Amino acid sequence: YFFTEKRMNQLKKIQGKEQTQLDHTAFLIKNELIDDHKYGTVGAVAIDKNGNIAAGTSTGGMTNKKYGRIGDSPIIGAGTYANNLTCGISSTGSGEYFIRTVAAHEVSNLIQYKKVSPSEALHEVLFNQIGKLGGEGGMILLDKNGDVYWDFNSSGMFRGYKKSNGDTKIEMFEKTN
Ligand code: ASP
Repeated sequence: YFFTEKRMNQLKKIQGKEQTQLDHTAFLIKNELIDDHKYGTVGAVAIDKNGNIAAGTSTGGMTNKKYGRIGDSPIIGAGTYANNLTCGISSTGSGEYFIRTVAAHEVSNLIQYKKVSPSEALHEVLFNQIGKLGGEGGMILLDKNGDVYWDFNSSGMFRGYKKSNGDTKIEMFEKTN
């Protein structure tokens, strides 16, 4: 029931190597092959009119992961986190690094205690912490004012938002905020 040829080929390619990889896919954009684009994770963050923030992340994990592996997505504070005092966050990427840096909670703490902006906090964790350890990924963030932020150190990340006033944005590659 869950079989798809693309995913089976990705698994076969990496089986036998002591490796895991993110669920990548290939795109041809303006004749350039983009083959390390992230694909598969679904994360969401929302805020209600009372200021309650919620975050959730759904993932298939890493291709060729060992049975029993638990990634960062279901670990509150690592891949997923929400705090009404700061923001909600959902992450995608190589989960081991998000667990090691307690990434989503770290971003929230930087905002709460160091008073840095959400953009600076995302950059610090994704590039200076996760990136320096060799990890790859991205995060979406919705702050307590309802403002949306995102960042990634991978070549792209499917992302978008819809606000109650109708404002909508969808992006894949280049960063515009
Ligand atoms: N973060 C997930 C994991 O490590 C992978 C993903 O982004 O889908 O399990």
